[in-house]
Amino acid sequence: MNAYTTTEQRLNMSKRMYEEYIGGTTDWFQCLCGNQPNYEGFYSCLRTGEIVSPTLYGDWDGQVYLCEKCSRIIDGETLKVIGVCSEEIAHKNDNYDWSTY
Ligand SMILES: [Zn+2]
Repeated sequence: MNAYTTTEQRLNMSKRMYEEYIGGTTDWFQCLCGNQPNYEGFYSCLRTGEIVSPTLYGDWDGQVYLCEKCSRIIDGETLKVIGVCSEEIAHKNDNYDWSTY
């Protein structure tokens, strides 16, 4: 056996380490931070984590949610965590105009 790991193997390992799934179902999320729809809740967002209206403007793809508590970005179909909000986006979300949600 080769004692060395290839770059590709290392990449796969690091990918696996960062792979996270939240609990619950596609109807009821339980985030890894403990957040649920009846606590802080989840918002429809872009894949960057930027909050968008679920109904207005057609920006939302109907699938991606932001955890209001920990800013994880969640694929609502697979329950996979696809990322975390950057500071810039989080700041934008803090100033979101909820009258347009
Ligand atoms: Zn969370």
